[in-house]
Amino acid sequence: MTGATRAGGSRASSHARGWARVARAVAWPGLLLSCSAILATGFALGHETLFFNLSYAWIVCWLLLAERTLGYRADWQRPDGQLRADLAHTVLNKGLVQLLIVSILATGVLDHAAPTGLGAWPLAAQVVFGLVASEFGLYWAHRLGHEWPWLWRFHAVHHSVRKLWLVNTGRFHFVDSLESVLFSLPFLLLTGLSMDAIVWVSAITAYIGILTHCNVDMRCGALSLVFNTPELHRWHHAIDPAIGNNNYGENLMLWDQLFGTYYRRPGLAVDTIGIADYMPPGFLAQLALPFRWRRVQAAFAGVDEAA
Ligand SMILES: [Zn+2]
Ligand SMILES: [Zn+2]
Repeated sequence: MTGATRAGGSRASSHARGWARVARAVAWPGLLLSCSAILATGFALGHETLFFNLSYAWIVCWLLLAERTLGYRADWQRPDGQLRADLAHTVLNKGLVQLLIVSILATGVLDHAAPTGLGAWPLAAQVVFGLVASEFGLYWAHRLGHEWPWLWRFHAVHHSVRKLWLVNTGRFHFVDSLESVLFSLPFLLLTGLSMDAIVWVSAITAYIGILTHCNVDMRCGALSLVFNTPELHRWHHAIDPAIGNNNYGENLMLWDQLFGTYYRRPGLAVDTIGIADYMPPGFLAQLALPFRWRRVQAAFAGVDEAA
């Protein structure tokens, strides 16, 4: 009886392992494709904004569930005391970025754009073009955020977390977010793509952004050669700048591959993530930090040396 139970148990656990293996392999493409299907339905029904919100709720629910059942690192499942700051940054960013987009459109930049003919391309071709073109701006905005010390003060807010999970997705200093939008959106608008294509590019950016930060054990394999995946983005969050100053791509790894900043070590896992600089725990102090960076870091270094 004991042997049968053990055999049954082992069969059950091997079934569970089999399902987990399948779930790890299909999670990333499955969630991206299912979100895209929901958005496509929205376009067909003429309610793309509503269906985009539904698709985002869909991916958040699945990722919350997967972080519990298919977690990548158990130590990242514990609270880090940053939930309120993460959510406050997310809400502030969302509001200000939308305001910036409305302001850019209000300048009439689109009215003066020369017709490029791209808007007549098939939608799928426009979306691919839009992803590649906007990625160029996003790549350099992100790379400058790491390699130009003055911008690093802002981007450090995103990198200061000691764990990755889906709530980190919107944790950016608002200046950092505005910089990314300014480097990519006007460029995207001037390409002459249709508004539908721009909505698709923005939606895919939102889906891939949340996927890259989740604490879910996804196996993306060869997809990591083309797309930004959780595996690649974890290396980007490494505390060691020699490793972290790579994988700047937001959606695609094309520009990393071309400019020599692509970093992947299959079979190995990043150890410590975070930053070596001091980051205060409170939201308002994090907002103010870039403007008093030297003073705060010097004080922190003094305390560190004294200790
Ligand atoms: Zn970064
Ligand atoms: Zn990140």
